[in-house]
Amino acid sequence: MEKIASITDAVKFELPVLPYAYDALEPFIDKMTMEIHHDKHHGMYVTNLNKALQEVKNTPSSIEEIIKNISHYSTAIRNNGGGHFNHSMFWKLMKFNGGGRPAGKLSDAINQEFGSFDNFKSKFNEAATKQFGSGWTWLVVRNGKLEIGTTPNQDNPLMDISEFKGSPILCIDVWEHAYYLKYKNKRVDYINEWWNVVNWDEALNNFVNLKTK
Ligand code: MN
Repeated sequence: MEKIASITDAVKFELPVLPYAYDALEPFIDKMTMEIHHDKHHGMYVTNLNKALQEVKNTPSSIEEIIKNISHYSTAIRNNGGGHFNHSMFWKLMKFNGGGRPAGKLSDAINQEFGSFDNFKSKFNEAATKQFGSGWTWLVVRNGKLEIGTTPNQDNPLMDISEFKGSPILCIDVWEHAYYLKYKNKRVDYINEWWNVVNWDEALNNFVNLKTK
C-alpha cells in the first residue's frame, strides 16, 4: 500500500525505495539506467501525480483506486498515476540473480495457456517488440485465463479506459528510457536480456494473490 504523508491534505504519494542496489541487475540492466529510470523518471511521475491531485476534491485512498477509475481523472493523473503504479510494480518484478522459470501454479497456468514456457516467452517477446513507441507489455489474468497484451504510454490493464484489460502478473517497460543508454535502438536485445532479471517469485505472488481474492 502507498504511504499517506498527510490526511488533512491531498493524498501524497512517495517514490518507493528500489528493493535492490542500482547495479544489482548488471550486466543486463546497467546502473546508470536504473539510477535515471528510478530516481528521475519515476520520481517525476510521483511529483507530477501529487501536483495534479491537488485539483481533486475527493481524495482517493490508494493509487489502485485511482487507476481503476481513471476515466474520472485528468490526463495528467492518467499519465503520472499510471507511471507511478506501473514502475512500482516493475521494480519488484526484477531482482538480483533473477531469471530462470516460474514455479508452482504460475508455471502450470503458463503451460496450460501457452503450451510451454518457451512458447509463452516468444509470444511475450513478440508483443513487446511490436509495441509501437512507448508503452508496456503485460501478462495478465482475465476471466480466469492468462493473456499477453500491451498498453501505450503509462496506461495499465486495470484502467477502466484501457483497450487491453486484466489483472497484471508480469510486465516489461519498453519505453526507450528503460534501455536506450545500453541497448540504443535495439529493443529486442533489451527484451531478451531482461528475462535474466525477472523475479518469478513476485510474479507468482501476483498470480496466487489474485486467485485467492
Ligand atoms: Mn519507465
